[in-house]
Amino acid sequence: MAILNTTRTYGLRPTVVFVDTAAIAENVASLVAAVSPSALCAVVKADGYGHGAVAAARSALEGGATSLAVALVEEGLSLRDAGIEASILVLSEQHGAAARALVECRLDATVASVHGVESLFRALCDVGTVEVIDAHLKIDTGMHRMGVLPGDLDDVAGALRKFSDRVRWAGTWTHFAVADEPQNSATAEQQRRFEAAIARLRVLGHDVGIVHAANSAGAIAHPSARYDMVRCGIAIYGQSPDAAFDMSTYGLALRPAISLHSEVSAVRIVPAGDSVSYGHRYTVSEPTIVATVPVGYADGVARRLFDVGGEVLIGGKRRRIAGRITMDQLMVDCGPAVDSSSVVAAEAAPAGVLGECGAPAVPAVRVGDPVVLLGQQGTEEVTVWEWAEKLGTIAYEIVCALALRATRMDRIER
Ligand SMILES: *Cc1c(COP(=O)(O)O)cnc(C)c1O
Repeated sequence: MAILNTTRTYGLRPTVVFVDTAAIAENVASLVAAVSPSALCAVVKADGYGHGAVAAARSALEGGATSLAVALVEEGLSLRDAGIEASILVLSEQHGAAARALVECRLDATVASVHGVESLFRALCDVGTVEVIDAHLKIDTGMHRMGVLPGDLDDVAGALRKFSDRVRWAGTWTHFAVADEPQNSATAEQQRRFEAAIARLRVLGHDVGIVHAANSAGAIAHPSARYDMVRCGIAIYGQSPDAAFDMSTYGLALRPAISLHSEVSAVRIVPAGDSVSYGHRYTVSEPTIVATVPVGYADGVARRLFDVGGEVLIGGKRRRIAGRITMDQLMVDCGPAVDSSSVVAAEAAPAGVLGECGAPAVPAVRVGDPVVLLGQQGTEEVTVWEWAEKLGTIAYEIVCALALRATRMDRIER
């Protein structure tokens, strides 16, 4: 493994989010093969789901994605600043300054109202240097978050026709609410409404551009929803859209691209009856080896992970998080200090370093030992979905949180 390209500033602390960019490229290539002849748009919003938007975008394009999508104009802007020339679709309607910035960066717009189309036209006039911008019409078919309702379709289509010399109708799309539940018939109903809307627009004589609807789950589990293009986010990062959604049943072997690593920064033996961390919620019943790891909730390790039995990997073994996770550090129960030499060593060693003065019969945990919070160590693995299920959330939220503070490095296989 070689570590390249530090993409965040810190780097003086051994806590690192590794991003396996080759995994993203390979996952995209697998997805592209699965959905072909539909095109794949790689969704890199929220800093590439915590993986780093620029690295994720480059890897996805390398893997065969033909375009990118973001949630914010700012996210599109930073991809352009990094020299990425591919089409970048902004997934919601923009007005005012945001619409002007979108035009300046030549991002593709989403429109979902007459006001949205007019805002785009006004932005083109204000910016002055861009002749034409691509727009994708978003239709609300049942998610009820954003998009034109079928009843208002004719008006918005009329506005697109009116400004068609500056606003090019490049695509028409919708978004699924329950595609990650393959048995749920609501997806078929959304498709029915979407196809009826497209048919209506075509009857009115509109060229609706490319048609797209599917997120990762839609692209994988609903072949009839692939249309001209799919918009994949979570799957390109090698994570399943739902705990119960098994990629392998669809013949896909995707590799998680993210892992979280640190090192033991201190070791001590906590006497029987003493408690660890804020609130003293973790009490040891016998002398216990406790390791400190310099990673905390400010790095995206949810504070509640202690309460729900979170574990980390040290020395190839699962070890229970001991006591409340603090902002910058957490403690780990590395087992009873049964071996007398390790106790002696701990007591004799300067600065609480265990095992340097003696030769413990049991492997002692030492300062500098690698710690894996998410990912593999030896034969053990802690997955993103393990955290998500323990914490009652989804993989999406776990990986996004990893963008908070930890140093991020791209990792390539040598
Ligand atoms: C986030 C998002 C996607 C990608 O969803 P995944 O489940 O991560 O594949 C696709 N389309 C829209 C509109 C989105 O907001």
